[in-house]
Amino acid sequence: MPELPEVETVIRGISSRILSQTINKCELSSKKLRYPITINFKKIILSKKIISISRRAKYILINLNNNKTIVIHLGMSGRIILTSNNENLKFKHTHMTIYFTNNLIAKFIDPRRFGCVLLLNTNDITDNKLFNHLGPEPLGRLFNPTYLQRSCKNKKATIKSIIMNQSIVVGVGNIYASESLFLSGINPQKKAANINFEQCLKLVRNIKLILNRAIKLGGSSINDYSMVNGMLGYFQNELKVYEREGENCIKKTCNGRILRIVIAQRSTYYCSQCQKN
Ligand SMILES: [Zn+2]
Repeated sequence: MPELPEVETVIRGISSRILSQTINKCELSSKKLRYPITINFKKIILSKKIISISRRAKYILINLNNNKTIVIHLGMSGRIILTSNNENLKFKHTHMTIYFTNNLIAKFIDPRRFGCVLLLNTNDITDNKLFNHLGPEPLGRLFNPTYLQRSCKNKKATIKSIIMNQSIVVGVGNIYASESLFLSGINPQKKAANINFEQCLKLVRNIKLILNRAIKLGGSSINDYSMVNGMLGYFQNELKVYEREGENCIKKTCNGRILRIVIAQRSTYYCSQCQKN
């Protein structure tokens, strides 16, 4: 499943190439996605210019010069591919094709169809039901140790569930939650209410560190057409606990082993020794 770093990578990859371009033509498939595509979608975006591209949680927001925003979610298996009029490569499971005046073509491909393409009024996005419950961005200033500690106060949930709760902070997926808790030496099963300020400080710092690192490593993979399983190959090599059950802890001073448990139906990996607190 594409996580925040992959979505950010897609945005960085397409931004420089389609920014300020005008939409010449749009084709949609008749296949159902997670939500039905907005009525008159093609008509409303025709001849409009792309004025900015941004991200909110795992949504890609393509803002047009008519106060409309094309909202794309990659779901489980979605991706965006840029090709050109000259080659116009064909891909199975293409649900939307947008032709730009500069000869570029953007295709939204999603075999499992859990993704979506919507058209919203740019000014209404924050109040829309897809967005109005979302917590702050993990890489933004609002996500800080004080905020995290306040969010943990009196919470019976585990700290891992808290950092994966989209209404508290968006975009910390299962892999990144396990990895940041390991770096912070915090047991994923720890009750959120019992977390102290120093631990919040470490955790916030490590979540940002890991997401930034994953974005950095993903930066060159934008043209890799086979990237469908969500995680960018480069960051995969840097995982310290995720899917390493039974292996020795990588910290030299630690002789623990990596364990796997299930929290909220998700596999969770941690070190038996250096994540006792
Ligand atoms: Zn360890």
